[in-house]
Amino acid sequence: MTNADSRSDYDHAEIRASVRALCAEFPGEYWRRLDRERAYPSEFVAALTKAGFLAALIPEQYGGSGLPLSAAAAIMEEIHASGGNGAACHAQMYTMGTLLRHGNAAQKQRWLPAIAKGELRLQAFGVTEPTSGSDTLSLRTTAVRERDHYLVNGQKIFTSRAEYSDLMMLLARTTSREQAKSRTGGLSVFLVDMRLAQGPSIKINPIRTMMNHATTEVFLDDLCVPAENLIGQEGEGFRYILAGMNAERILIAAECIGDAKWFIAKATAYAKERNVFGRPIGKNQGVQFPIARAYAQMRAAELMVREAAALYDAERECGAEANLAKLLAADASRAAADMCVQTHGGFGFAEEFDIERKFRETSLYQVAPISTNLVLSYLAEHVLGLPRSY
Ligand SMILES: Cc1cc2nc3c(=O)[nH]c(=O)nc-3n(C[C@H](O)[C@H](O)[C@H](O)COP(=O)(O)OP(=O)(O)OC[C@H]3O[C@@H](n4cnc5c(N)ncnc54)[C@H](O)[C@@H]3O)c2cc1C
Repeated sequence: MTNADSRSDYDHAEIRASVRALCAEFPGEYWRRLDRERAYPSEFVAALTKAGFLAALIPEQYGGSGLPLSAAAAIMEEIHASGGNGAACHAQMYTMGTLLRHGNAAQKQRWLPAIAKGELRLQAFGVTEPTSGSDTLSLRTTAVRERDHYLVNGQKIFTSRAEYSDLMMLLARTTSREQAKSRTGGLSVFLVDMRLAQGPSIKINPIRTMMNHATTEVFLDDLCVPAENLIGQEGEGFRYILAGMNAERILIAAECIGDAKWFIAKATAYAKERNVFGRPIGKNQGVQFPIARAYAQMRAAELMVREAAALYDAERECGAEANLAKLLAADASRAAADMCVQTHGGFGFAEEFDIERKFRETSLYQVAPISTNLVLSYLAEHVLGLPRSY
């Protein structure tokens, strides 16, 4: 097989074409209306589910397609390159790795077929807390074992899609930091069935943000979680979640590549058709070069996203590459967004062009799921061996 062959194989061209066809049913007007109303794209998520895209990573024996992460990345990229937003449903893909790699056979049998059929939604990922922020090891939500269940108390913040999910993958402390065997020990992962939560044990408040993201704060008050919902070993949760976070970073990076492609295509088309001073603005190198630079930046980041996904799929260590991919792709999409606004002049700010919406949406990825500073810190300290700052 030549390099070109292996590259086109890895492109998932058929999947990409199907996703593009589905996304064509959900044009800019659809996303604009939802953005205005801060409403959840239920029809879009239902269509993706029906077409099987959200079950891409679920093994065939449980009713999914058993595809690698690179295929999920292609799906998310295409949604974004089509002008849509995968944030409404990407968690089902990135939390999947934790369940697939660390869940037991009974848990997979119980949840995966229903998720694959679209009867169960696994869209909420409860890690961030108001007082600990990026310092995940300092989270304060506790899960205390009592006979056959755990009692969970605490608060999560920015738990996206909690109102549109049946299950939440939750990280909580089961052993105090002082008593934990290691610095990263003592945290555990649970798959919480929010439909079974009794009375006020889960309270969800929406948080309105600069873009339409369905994010929330979640209060957990004596929430009873059956012990059988613990994923893997008690106390090993941080390690499991880290693997899921690598998947999350790679998928978000793929979304950023999709955004960058959308901005570049939009700017290129406009630069060809917009006439000022009696000629297309794209004839001016002052307009051309930023578009070309954004394209170069996007292509370089795209290579790193593919490398990270390939390593993840080969079950090889990919922490550095997942972080690099997320950093480079988020910067590429942000730079492409700036360029696209500039190319459109005043129209870059007009709602009907969708640019200002996509600009706001892609800005999130400078901060979530991990901020740029924390990626740089990871690279400096874990990859380059510089002294630890925290
Ligand atoms: C719309 C949205 C959706 C989200 N969805 C989810 C979700 O579904 N689930 C979930 O668990 N979380 C979610 N998050 C949370 C997100 O992952 C966090 O916002 C992000 O990790 C940053 O944490 P923080 O906001 O607490 O910032 P902080 O940790 O308070 O950091 C604030 C600033 O200080 C910088 N900083 C902090 N410490 C250092 C340091 N040591 N060195 C250098 N700089 C530092 C950071 O880079 C950042 O710029 C979401 C956030 C948003 C805004």
